[in-house]
Amino acid sequence: MTAAAAENHAFEADVARLLHMMVHSVYSDKDVFLRELVSNAADACEKLRYEAIANPALLGDDANSRITITLDPDLNRIVLEDNGVGMSREEMIEALGTIARSGTRAFMERITASQASEGAQLIGQFGVGFYSSFMVAEQVDVISRRAGTDEAWIWSSDGKGSYTVAEADLSDAPKRGTRITLNLSEEAKDYTSRWTVERIVKQQSGHVPVPITLIEKPGAEPAEITDGSALWTKSKSEISETEYADFYRSVSGQYDDPALTVHFRAEGRHEYTTLAFVPGAQPFDMFDPDRKGRMKLYVKRVFITDDAELLPRYLRFVRGLVDTSDLPLNVSREMIQESPILSAIRKGVTNRILSSLEKMAENEADKFKTLWDNFGAVLKEGIYEDFEKKAQLLALSRFRTTTSGDSYRTLADYVKDAKEGQSAIYYITGGNLDQLKASPQLEGFRARGIEVLLLSDSIDAFWVMNAPEFEGKSLKSITQGGADLAQFAKTDAPKDESEAESADKAGALADLIAFAKEKLADAVADVRSSERLTESAVCLVASEGGYDRQMEKILQGAGQLPSAAKPVLELNPDHSMVRAIAAQASDAAFREDAVHLLLDQARVLDGDKPSDPRAFAERLQRVFERASRA
Ligand code: ADP
Ligand code: MG
Repeated sequence: MTAAAAENHAFEADVARLLHMMVHSVYSDKDVFLRELVSNAADACEKLRYEAIANPALLGDDANSRITITLDPDLNRIVLEDNGVGMSREEMIEALGTIARSGTRAFMERITASQASEGAQLIGQFGVGFYSSFMVAEQVDVISRRAGTDEAWIWSSDGKGSYTVAEADLSDAPKRGTRITLNLSEEAKDYTSRWTVERIVKQQSGHVPVPITLIEKPGAEPAEITDGSALWTKSKSEISETEYADFYRSVSGQYDDPALTVHFRAEGRHEYTTLAFVPGAQPFDMFDPDRKGRMKLYVKRVFITDDAELLPRYLRFVRGLVDTSDLPLNVSREMIQESPILSAIRKGVTNRILSSLEKMAENEADKFKTLWDNFGAVLKEGIYEDFEKKAQLLALSRFRTTTSGDSYRTLADYVKDAKEGQSAIYYITGGNLDQLKASPQLEGFRARGIEVLLLSDSIDAFWVMNAPEFEGKSLKSITQGGADLAQFAKTDAPKDESEAESADKAGALADLIAFAKEKLADAVADVRSSERLTESAVCLVASEGGYDRQMEKILQGAGQLPSAAKPVLELNPDHSMVRAIAAQASDAAFREDAVHLLLDQARVLDGDKPSDPRAFAERLQRVFERASRA
């Protein structure tokens, strides 16, 4: 059959690992292999249509794209054929012997980090392309002929470490495109059943823009099972919820239901149609460092690219497409980047998506809460990056606060319930919500019934630096500068002391503070009496100006801040321990140990370590010894 001897190639190491997992996967939903192969076939057809814009001869007398699935129950086989662009020998080796695409690479990285059993779950979520055929097949043969060439190649593998490539007879090959034959394993026999395959294809691939034909067994009458019409060209009233959801799944590669569907046609100066979805669950690549979007650009129903950045990066979780008739079909990459038409479209689509989100926030609060759980951290990047949309995004944002419990609060809620005379919106940032809730810096705010935003996403430390105000109130970190809390009464006021008593204590405290300032001068910028503490003895805050504590840590961690500014140590004047230390004015050695230990305690409360563990242990020991002698 082959015109030349087959060459043997080993798979790239990652592919071999992936295949091993595919074959041994206990994951029950093996149906995904069909979706993956159909989507590759459709991509190949779309690539050909795109190449044919510059080179119409490629289409020859066979201009209509099609995908044909032929079943063969007797031989336990399923064959998928497309008349798309096909692959040359080099393309085959590159595409089917290595891990070419970013999704598969991301998948492998996830797998390395997790258990194999979870890996099996992930296969279903990711699909992972062509290689998923080895979940059902013992042997896969791919014959392909690149459009416009007169040679064909056959790639074969049993998925166990290597594959062969050989030249194929033209008479055995499709005239153009690719034929994939899966020799199914015994357990996968059901995939030769017409009903099974028809159901799966309709469900998973019902809206790929290439018609799909099914042949029940060799020689049987072909039957078209999907018509390849572009769903987005129909009017909204003709499209059912289920059709939207199916389309969403095929365009996003996800399995959930969309949380939000935005379908509209812009007319007037620019003409384009958008069909976009906010996923119901987080896509796997949301926090990839390249922060790429996945909106596809079509021109007059021809797929052009998914690289046109049709949405700002903070909307990169949105999946879908824009189809416009305003651009020429042969639009180049450079043109795409500079096109004023595209920038107008980008603006229009962005506005529409934001206003749909606003509507949802208003009318379907519960749904929006879930959406915010999934994508809030990404949306907030826009507060930092998109000056024009900053106010809109701030209003859309949801926050955990000291009073929110498990629900969310908006800044409008916050401002409405702010204290008389309160000019700031207070916040604290940090890596973890529970830790934030336990921060000593919050105590004074709690005691006065002042709400504080608890910001625990990593992006928060950034946008707060340039968001800065909402309805006339500026945002203020409670771990930085003075707390200005004296003007607000505590909800449970402390019991009265005689004036003489409190003057005495104030004197002793001032004395202790002066002492601490001198002894800790290398480590802190200042020591002062705190308004923000009620239960804890001490806390650290940043000086006014510069960064707040959290931002300082992030920058230091990233090596961006060689010499951190010294923090301010605050002492709780009402705390029994602070008072007891203040009262021990005569024992200087004890006092020195005590103020160092107070500083270390503040560091620990801040999530850090004592700066000198050995000195810390020795001081602690001396203080214990002194206490046991007393
Ligand atoms: P992806 O589709 O995300 O690139 P796959 O693993 O599904 O990843 O496919 C790998 C590559 O193999 C494709 O990018 C494409 O270059 C090539 N390929 C797979 N199937 C076909 C096909 N039917 N026609 C042409 N090329 C194909
Ligand atoms: Mg694919």
